[in-house]
Amino acid sequence: MARTAIGIDLGGTNIKAGLVAEDGTVLAQAEAKTLAHEGPDAVMGRMAVLAGQMRGKAEADPVGLGVGSPGPLDPSVGQIYFTPNMPGWDGYPLGARLADRLKMPVRVENDANCAALAEHWRGAGQGTKTMILLTLGTGIGGGIIVDGKLVNGTRVTAGEVGHIVINDKGPKCGCGNHGCLEAYCGTAGIIARARELLDKPGTVSMLIEMAGRDFEKLSPALIGQAAKKGDGPAISIYKETGRLLGLGIVNLVNIFAPEVVILGGGVAANGAFIFPAVRDEVKRRAMRPGNEQVRIEAAAMGNDAGLIGAAGLLLH
Ligand SMILES: [Zn+2]
Repeated sequence: MARTAIGIDLGGTNIKAGLVAEDGTVLAQAEAKTLAHEGPDAVMGRMAVLAGQMRGKAEADPVGLGVGSPGPLDPSVGQIYFTPNMPGWDGYPLGARLADRLKMPVRVENDANCAALAEHWRGAGQGTKTMILLTLGTGIGGGIIVDGKLVNGTRVTAGEVGHIVINDKGPKCGCGNHGCLEAYCGTAGIIARARELLDKPGTVSMLIEMAGRDFEKLSPALIGQAAKKGDGPAISIYKETGRLLGLGIVNLVNIFAPEVVILGGGVAANGAFIFPAVRDEVKRRAMRPGNEQVRIEAAAMGNDAGLIGAAGLLLH
């Protein structure tokens, strides 16, 4: 009988669950609204129901449940320290509660770390020993895999690549520090640079009309649309985002000498403008020969990365 595990990707809006085979194939899937405002116990209850449904689809009892959760957490015991977008989760013992409810082994890991595991298992990092994933979105998450293993710190999630400081006098970051990569290349940072550029006298850009002359309507997706239509300022915003990302990635390349750095998430959809700038910066600044050897590639796993990686916590 084939081994399977249940994977859950806990997001601020949706909970996605899957029954995952030992080769990483998703055999069954189910989804529910998170309804985070109802508090952690209610959300945990919905996760348990979804896990139960997946269990029911398995030929033999799954080896356990893996959960990818937002925020810093202690993976050794499955305890959440806090979650930026879901109130009331401080110190919540998610792993223990689920294990109690389901009577099966439960592992909890940071969601971006789960995505990194999935890329290593079946995606753009397949076959590598050392790889790094950056997920670009509202924030910048990531995961670091060295010698085939996720890098975990001491009782806290490691791999917070979005909080590499690239300018000590830079803009304030959500983490409280200044000048983090996320403060420049997360959604808010990209929009702030776009506003600054569009505000400059003499700037001609179709973005101004596309946003209905309302800068509140600017978004990375809108800037990407303008860039694809050949708008100069929009292209320069994404090239600069790539250059700044490259600055952060240079540090990662020098420290870890990865075979591949993988970029995923919404912003990476504008990869045509971002990737060349990242590659240039890494080639120019990182130490030889790592700068020549490292590949910079797009994530390959798509939306199921989180739950597949979470199930992988049990299957590997
Ligand atoms: Zn930060």
